Amino acid sequence: MPKFQLHVSGLNMLSKCGIQFERRYINGEKVPPGVSLVMGTAVHKAVAADLTEKITAGKLLPSEQVQDIARDALAAEWQKGVVLEEDYAALGEKKAEAVAVDTAVSLAELHHEEAAPGLQPTHVERPWVLDIEGLPVQLAGTIDVQEGLRSIRDTKTSKKSPAADVADTSLQLTTYCLAVRQHDGAVPEKAGLDFLVHTKVPKLVQIESRRTDADFPHMLERVYQASRMIEAGLFMPASLDDWYCSPRWCGFHPTCKYARRLVSVAVGSEK
Ligand code: SF4
Repeated sequence: MPKFQLHVSGLNMLSKCGIQFERRYINGEKVPPGVSLVMGTAVHKAVAADLTEKITAGKLLPSEQVQDIARDALAAEWQKGVVLEEDYAALGEKKAEAVAVDTAVSLAELHHEEAAPGLQPTHVERPWVLDIEGLPVQLAGTIDVQEGLRSIRDTKTSKKSPAADVADTSLQLTTYCLAVRQHDGAVPEKAGLDFLVHTKVPKLVQIESRRTDADFPHMLERVYQASRMIEAGLFMPASLDDWYCSPRWCGFHPTCKYARRLVSVAVGSEK
């Protein structure tokens, strides 16, 4: 029987809400993504195509082609189904899609103009899997961009500028650095996050950090603990006051037996 593959997104989900993890990764239930996730997927496809061209042909794609890839990818993802978060719901589906297309195209273009020229990728969207000794789970993931042993990078789309320490505290970057050490023989010199921030004027924020061998034990302890929980089949729900335990942030909320339902009670209407 194949081993369960634990991705860092699953590891993070498990530490926030075990029920979400169980439904998504153990039971295989899927909920349609929100607009932000769909935009992120479209931008990732354009960035990957642009940087793959740099590896194979030694130069980036023409700007128009990068924009077309983002536009087409957004349309294709939209067709599969999307949940309109509050801001987008207020616009209505057609307008929301138009805004999402414009945003994805402008962020892909931003990466093409400001981030991609400075990158020397050796791998793009590199999948990896690690066996962890003594565990029934494997750790797995996909590195967005690798520049040999010089750096690994993850591309993010965001509405807000990130916190200054976001790369230092990223479990995702730690797992990617471990994967490179195991597959390529050394920890990469830098681990970076390339944030494409969709403020009024889109901006690129690049934040870099480093990992050493001392950074891996605490991450692996989390994997060991996750493995025990998966084996035991014991999952705890999020706390009721956790911000993400809400219809806006959790797609399972409408059908979750642990979720708090808001019931309207009429008050002050007695005559
Ligand atoms: S509604 Fe709350 S408890 Fe239920 S899966 Fe979502 S986050 Fe977890």
